[in-house]
Amino acid sequence: MRNALLFAALLLPTVALAEDRVANAAATAEKPATAEQAAPPAAKAPVDCKNALGVSRVIEVDTTGGGEYGEQYMHPRPLLEKGEVVITFDDGPHPEFTRQILDALAAECTEATFFYVGRMIKNFPDMARQVQAEGHTVGTHTYTHRNLGGTSMGQAEQQIESTFNVAEATLPNGVAPFFRFPYLSDPQRVRDYLAKRNIAVFGIDVDSFDWRVRTTEKVMHNVFTGLDKKGGGIILFHDIHANTAKSIPAVLAELKKRSYKVVHLVPKSRLEAVAAAEPTQVAPRRRAHRHRRAR
Ligand SMILES: [Zn+2]
Repeated sequence: MRNALLFAALLLPTVALAEDRVANAAATAEKPATAEQAAPPAAKAPVDCKNALGVSRVIEVDTTGGGEYGEQYMHPRPLLEKGEVVITFDDGPHPEFTRQILDALAAECTEATFFYVGRMIKNFPDMARQVQAEGHTVGTHTYTHRNLGGTSMGQAEQQIESTFNVAEATLPNGVAPFFRFPYLSDPQRVRDYLAKRNIAVFGIDVDSFDWRVRTTEKVMHNVFTGLDKKGGGIILFHDIHANTAKSIPAVLAELKKRSYKVVHLVPKSRLEAVAAAEPTQVAPRRRAHRHRRAR
């Protein structure tokens, strides 16, 4: 009983937050917008998609034999045409900033791919489900954001499989067999393992460096300097930062203004289960999840 009460108490702040948000969204919807109300619009409000950024095409990614995407790879599989972008977010879900980002994406009728950390999915399962419910693609990014360049193969497998397990158990439509390495640190042996598991690896083409800058202007500068140089590509953001949530509406507006086309990636097949995979037991580390370095 005591445990049940404690559990309920732990859940309460999240529930209260969600209810406050709904109440606030309803209150905002009833008032006329003012210049001071810079917050993203409520997701539930009807959106006119006619003049929105939208999605120009959907690519069904065949992950048979893995596949690697992004400029860091010597032989990436073909993905995008000139002027096309894929919007990606790592490290969440986050109860507050992910919600704001979802609202900004919904306001532009566009879709993104989220590479999620296992223990964040475990902590915020409702938000993970909400991301999928709004049509976005969810892949994974290890269980505790470990740098797989410094682990044994056994630890790497545990990090990968436990995250896919918790995501599969949480998401009604299952998880995409899409993976991004933390810090983009990608040893060949782990890449070989992912290829055997028919899991695609997504690097990046353009880095927003949103984890280290504090203003929308700087995020915009990083994104559009990169995009203009490369003519498009896979863009990296993180949905665990306040500045990212604040900046995304401006980034989406500028993508539209500069006529970039958003491509939505979806998996051709669901992740294949591994009978021998352990559940979500990963040895706890002393330090909390931090994201000091990039990605
Ligand atoms: Zn990361």
